[in-house]
Amino acid sequence: MDDMKTAEHQDPNAFDDPIVTKRAGGAAGIGGVLHAMDFAIRERAMLPLITLNKPGGVDCPGCAWPDPDEEHAGIVEFCENGAKAVAEETTPRRCTPEFFAEHSIDDLLGQTDYWLGRQGRLTTPMLHEAGDTHYRPISWDEAFDRIAEKLGKIDPNDAIFYTSGRTSNEAAYMYQLLARRLGTNNLPDCSNMCHESSGAALGSTIGIGKGTVTLEDIYNAGLIITVGQNPGTNHPRMLAALEEQKKRGGKIVAINPLPEPGLINFHNPQTPKGMLGSGTDLADEYMRIRINGDQAFFQALNRELIERDYLDREFLDEYCTGVEETIEHLKKVDLDYVRKCTGLRPEAIDRVADMVMEAGEKGVIVCWAMGATQHRNSVPLLKEIVNFLLLTGNIGKPGAGACPVRGHSNVQGDRTMGIWERPPEPLLQRLDDEFGFTTPREHGYDVVNAIRAMRDNKVKFFMAMGGNFVRATPDTPVTEQGFRNTDMIVHVSTKLNGSHLHPGSEQTIILPTLGRTDEDKQNGVRQSVTVEDSMGMVHASTGKRTANPGLYSEPAIVGEIGHRAFGDSWWLEMAGDYRVIRKHIANTIPGFANYEEKIKNPGGFALPNGPRERKFGTPDGKAHLTQHDLKYFDCPEGHLILQTVRSHDQYNTTIYGLNDRYRGIRDGRRVIFISPEDCRDLGLEDGQIVDLTSVWEDGVERRAENFRVVEYDTARHCAAAYFPETNVLIPLDSTAETSNTPTSKSILIRVEPSAA
Ligand code: SF4
Repeated sequence: MDDMKTAEHQDPNAFDDPIVTKRAGGAAGIGGVLHAMDFAIRERAMLPLITLNKPGGVDCPGCAWPDPDEEHAGIVEFCENGAKAVAEETTPRRCTPEFFAEHSIDDLLGQTDYWLGRQGRLTTPMLHEAGDTHYRPISWDEAFDRIAEKLGKIDPNDAIFYTSGRTSNEAAYMYQLLARRLGTNNLPDCSNMCHESSGAALGSTIGIGKGTVTLEDIYNAGLIITVGQNPGTNHPRMLAALEEQKKRGGKIVAINPLPEPGLINFHNPQTPKGMLGSGTDLADEYMRIRINGDQAFFQALNRELIERDYLDREFLDEYCTGVEETIEHLKKVDLDYVRKCTGLRPEAIDRVADMVMEAGEKGVIVCWAMGATQHRNSVPLLKEIVNFLLLTGNIGKPGAGACPVRGHSNVQGDRTMGIWERPPEPLLQRLDDEFGFTTPREHGYDVVNAIRAMRDNKVKFFMAMGGNFVRATPDTPVTEQGFRNTDMIVHVSTKLNGSHLHPGSEQTIILPTLGRTDEDKQNGVRQSVTVEDSMGMVHASTGKRTANPGLYSEPAIVGEIGHRAFGDSWWLEMAGDYRVIRKHIANTIPGFANYEEKIKNPGGFALPNGPRERKFGTPDGKAHLTQHDLKYFDCPEGHLILQTVRSHDQYNTTIYGLNDRYRGIRDGRRVIFISPEDCRDLGLEDGQIVDLTSVWEDGVERRAENFRVVEYDTARHCAAAYFPETNVLIPLDSTAETSNTPTSKSILIRVEPSAA
């Protein structure tokens, strides 16, 4: 009997007694195949998986790792977590009106994220009004009318339109237009919580807020340095690209407080060596750095290269500014302070400097993910990485460059489509010209400011295009209260999640939508959507699975709301034929001319990327080297620095399962990884149940309870635990300078024996 249908009221924060086993020595392999097949068979995902990430097929709704060209493509082009992401959509389970009639919101609040996600695909629009204990079905017609009516009554800046990175280019383009047609730039998106720091650092130094490398560059790089990234779980097909780079003689340096198996060894399931042999060793050097020590690491590395006079003077003279000031600044870097910040021995920096020089003309790429972007000093850190790439001339040549690896399949595309609370004037001008209305110029709310506005009762309407806002954001009780303060909330979702359980003060509507693998027919014609991967490649995705009857696509939902709220003809024209959306995109977004033709190419097309050709889109056309002070992240005695992480059975706040097989965890999630030395110093024991309390300048006690201590080989004074369970520990006001990204990777905590 599927225990996932019964819903005894329980405490989702109760201890779940996970089993702790040995950490894996490497990633993927037979285990990866078996797990992928388990999900694929159980959830009927086999068919879409065959053409996943292949021309003419579906783009994986998981991460944004690019698809290799035919020469490098495997028999199949998906990883274990891609199979899980597809299985989330193809599951035969259905979350029906009968389910909502059986389960009150109070009941559902007693369930875990995992249990909620297992209830299956939503089938029918659902409504909750003030005083209701349960959601009840509502017709699409009435739902759209209620939304349009509300939009007609409010001040535009009392509305917020949130976007999750799974949203296609076509839906994102219409959605930004809906917000701006209303008159607001309140367009927060999940990028605000992940790579906003990357956009801020790269945009101001090299003139583009995206990475500069291609997949071919990864294969050919002489050296790849990965910073704060766990590709084995979060971008698994990257491992095949790293294996190819190693085969071509390249080297890898991994910088991460945790020993992630996916950075140590890769068993490529599409090769005999991978399936039967020893696999491929990846990292040649593994820097088990202290959390938040990365900026110090790159300052010291840059200092060492300057001392060795290993600088690309020709490149610096021709393309860069701020060179001498930066060199003088870096010469003064205090290596003892660096050692304190990084926890690394000076020889470690020297070894990496040797590898940079050995890579020489083959080039050096720096890849990074959340472990680099979710700290107070993330923007200065990423600018220091840019300093490194510029000083050594590793920008705009083969095998070299900056590579922020995006976590959500179309998060980069959404920003390209205009999903940004701080839109550039030229975009707004082009939209004005194209659609004949004046778009708003006042900048809007990002994620953190949106939560502040809801907390302070300034929001009358909140709409979420996908995602799980309440569970993904920091300071959970504050966000929950923010939702309850908001008059009307609209969720466009494929499945039930924790955000649905915090209804607005007047009304909340859940609109069930198509998934990426579902066939999307408009006026009887199958539609394709497009996405942009981490490397700026735009390609088509065409769902072919017969969807549950009665679901609307995301563009159709936005089209109906726009049409009813504003009456413009273009809403239904676009919703009825996505080529019309792409025509407007081609007229208003640079790089999309001949859009319809270009997406017919297998693999799609590359968007312009100036730095790849050493053209820098900065005001002075130069690449900027910059200087930054170093600040030690103090960890007083009796405390630890916590980073929130995903398990291997998780994608953002979607919990696929209760295992984290690479880290040796089974059947549970309430664990905290702490080094044996720190356990000894803190008087803790492996297996002990503890409560976590974050320490922040506002003096508020933020607690997360009932975690099992797991002695683990993490860097000293550093701990790790899963989100969303630990997002409650992150203060709303603890954000990165400039990017305002929550500091989910460096939170000061106390660990105490569990009160329970
Ligand atoms: S690497 Fe990312 S995009 Fe590729 S199949 Fe896996 S989850 Fe999907």
